[in-house]
Amino acid sequence: MGQIAVLDQNMINMIAAGEVIERPASVVKELMENSIDAGAAKITVSIEDGGKKLISITDNGSGMDTEDLAQAFQPHTTSKIKTSSDLHGISTLGFRGEALASIASVSQVKAVSKTKDSAGANNIEIDCGQVTKAGPCSADFGTTIQIRDLFYKLPARRKFLRTTNTEWGHITEQFTRIALANANLDLSLSHNGRESYRLLSNQGLHQRVAELFPALSADVSHDLIEAVNQEKNIHVLALLGRPDISRTSNKFQYAFLNGRFIRDKFISHAIKEAYRGLLEPNRFPVVFLFIQMPFEDYDVNVHPTKIEVRFYNANLVHSQILGALREKLLGTNLETQGKLPAISQSKSASPQTASMRDQRIADAMAEFFKKHKPAQTQQHIRFRPASPPAATSAPIERTAPYDRKFLQIHDSFIVAQTDDGFVIIDQHALHEKIIYETLCRRIQEHKLQSQKLLIPESFEVTTPEMEVLKINAGLIEKLGIEIVPFGPRTMAVQAFPTFLSNVQPLDFVRDMLDLLGRKDAGLDAERLLDEILDMASCKAAIKAGQKLTTAEIEQLLADKDTAESSTRCPHGRPTTIKFSISDLEKQFKRT
Ligand code: ADP
Ligand code: MG
Repeated sequence: MGQIAVLDQNMINMIAAGEVIERPASVVKELMENSIDAGAAKITVSIEDGGKKLISITDNGSGMDTEDLAQAFQPHTTSKIKTSSDLHGISTLGFRGEALASIASVSQVKAVSKTKDSAGANNIEIDCGQVTKAGPCSADFGTTIQIRDLFYKLPARRKFLRTTNTEWGHITEQFTRIALANANLDLSLSHNGRESYRLLSNQGLHQRVAELFPALSADVSHDLIEAVNQEKNIHVLALLGRPDISRTSNKFQYAFLNGRFIRDKFISHAIKEAYRGLLEPNRFPVVFLFIQMPFEDYDVNVHPTKIEVRFYNANLVHSQILGALREKLLGTNLETQGKLPAISQSKSASPQTASMRDQRIADAMAEFFKKHKPAQTQQHIRFRPASPPAATSAPIERTAPYDRKFLQIHDSFIVAQTDDGFVIIDQHALHEKIIYETLCRRIQEHKLQSQKLLIPESFEVTTPEMEVLKINAGLIEKLGIEIVPFGPRTMAVQAFPTFLSNVQPLDFVRDMLDLLGRKDAGLDAERLLDEILDMASCKAAIKAGQKLTTAEIEQLLADKDTAESSTRCPHGRPTTIKFSISDLEKQFKRT
């Protein structure tokens, strides 16, 4: 007898649910999208227990009549397309007619709906695909859908759900995407009875960004650079973060196509290219990008959750975005807030705190330099005894106590004479390397020594960030960073490593949270720590463009001698390039 049987419809739905409904956040996305497609101006989302217990969504959209309400939860039922030709140029967020049926097959659903011109409302209750109740009721116009106990009859799927905080984090991310794409809607989101967001329709995009990303601070979101371009049927609107608020991951890059959040490699590449030369290679800009183009110019029917699309002319999309962003960035004075030497962190500080900070930096430098005297036996570069300084020597060129001749050029490189030629040193890369090695050594011995901040620096955190802080508490402690609760959505940095006293604690902690929250980090503890130390070294190091005193250069050269194998910075870039006298002689045809 044959082994193959036809699956019943409920099984088919349950299997299909696996494609679109991965976790509570997927339900939130699908239901909010339905509300938007129904023309709602206001959507209220209430969550309990990370969505594992309850997801409830109420809208004031078109509503459904008796017949449609029953039909909506059947598989492959949609009001959004009728014929195959409608597949070209889909203007709604949904069209596959799968979401409600999938959701209803794996949870307990209660739905109430009323159209504007019908006399009464209707409700329906479904338990894992079986309608248990249906009939008239009283309600306002619009639709409310409640989903309880997602996957409760599917222990294998239920087991995959993570902690309440993690699931809630995914929900806030989906909500954030939809809220960014629909700044014209009133939206609210609450968890276990507490309201997390109440976003009003008349605020404008900048304000919406500010409310969704308190971590970017209201100041920064108003400071985003707006680029607008309409050409070749593609309308581009972008809010661009200045290079100095760049991040360690692309988590703060949002791209929307006709109101749909998408991920696309052409778009990511265009963003990266637009910032070329304005950012260090492993930094990611903050970008909110809104693209409008004819629905017929791309296909959304290529991915179950429609997060990817296929552009018919991807090169054109790429070049339009790149052009609009690049032109705006190049035409904007980015320097005012540019990362100039370490001291520039005091841009918002009062003169008094600025000078305190200067003092702290000076002290830290002094301490750093004191502890890092070169061991004479370990010299890697030997400098030739210098000739007496000429009366009209260049500003920094002089004979050092270490018998070296050196010169800082363009406030970025140090040219130093060696026994058999000279070296050119990238001051930032070398200093970074030295700090990195010191940090690695110290943290291996025990945790970094920290010091209490005079005034704790507070910052707002999102729920996922809170989770990240919790998960990585051990690591953060080892770094000598103390972060304590300061309010409902606020934390404060209370202590910071002494060794990094010239790094701005908040700036560092934010970047660290980004890094720790990065999904692709693979979460290998050792690698994470390494990346954080790497970031710390980069931040603490002397910058390119910073004029150094003779003593500082001498110290750098001395430390270079002690640091092992320091011809490459932690990023693999060289710190030093050597030239030999014999090469020079060859070049000048002396031999
Ligand atoms: P799709 O969105 O792909 O059409 P769904 O399964 O998500 O499929 O929804 C099925 C249908 O139910 C929709 O096409 C729409 O007609 C109706 N519907 C769903 N949610 C709502 C809502 N909030 N308001 C009005 N109609 C809705
Ligand atoms: Mg839908």
